[in-house]
Amino acid sequence: MLLSITAPTSNGGSDFYWWFVEGSTTTSFSTKLTWEKLCPAAPPQRWAKAIWYKGHIPKHTFTFWVANLNRLPTRERTARWGTNAPSLCCICGFAVESRTHMFIHCQYSSMVWRLVLHRLGRNQSFLDWPDMIEWLLACTRPFSLTLKRLVVQTVIYHIWKEKKRLHTSIASPVASVFKLIDRSVRNSILARLKSNKFKNLLSQWFIHYKKCPFLA
Ligand SMILES: [Zn+2]
Repeated sequence: MLLSITAPTSNGGSDFYWWFVEGSTTTSFSTKLTWEKLCPAAPPQRWAKAIWYKGHIPKHTFTFWVANLNRLPTRERTARWGTNAPSLCCICGFAVESRTHMFIHCQYSSMVWRLVLHRLGRNQSFLDWPDMIEWLLACTRPFSLTLKRLVVQTVIYHIWKEKKRLHTSIASPVASVFKLIDRSVRNSILARLKSNKFKNLLSQWFIHYKKCPFLA
C-alpha cells in the first residue's frame, strides 16, 4: 500500500505540522493542554475548602489533608496490614484507634477540643469527622473560615503528634497541648498580619478568652 502512495516532494511546498488536541488543531504545542488530556483532573471536592487556604501552615495542612483522606497510619489501619500490631488507641487504650476515635472521641482529644472550641464559641464537640468538616465549611460569625481552619488543623496536628508517646513513653498533659495550640495560633496570625484574611483574627481568637485555673 505504501508503494501506491506518491512520495512527498519539495514541489508541493515546505513541510508543516498540526497538533490535534480535543478536536481542535493548532500549530503550536501546548504542554498544558497535552497534560490535561493525558491526565484529566478530578472534579473539585467540596471538602477542599476546609483544607486549603491562603496562609496555611504546610505541616498542619498536610497532616489534616492526609487525615481527611483517612490515610494516616492509625492503629486501626496498621492492624489491618497483618503486622500483629495492637489496634487499641495509643493515648487512652480503651477503644480501637480509628481516625474518629483518635481525633474526636478519645477522652484526651475531647478535653483538648473542649478548651479549643470554647474559644470559637462552640459548646459541644463534633459527632465525627464529617461533622467537623461541615462545621469548618459553615459560616459561624464572627469567626472567620480562615481562623477555624487554622485552629482545627493545628489541633489535629498536635493530637497526631501525641503518637510520639509510643516511642518516648512521655505523655503531654492536655493543658500543655492546649498551650502549644494557643501559641501556634497566635504566632501564625501575628506572622501573617499583612494579609487581609488574618488582620482581625487575633481579636476573634480572644473573644471568649478566659483564664482557666488549670492552665495557669
Ligand atoms: Zn483514645
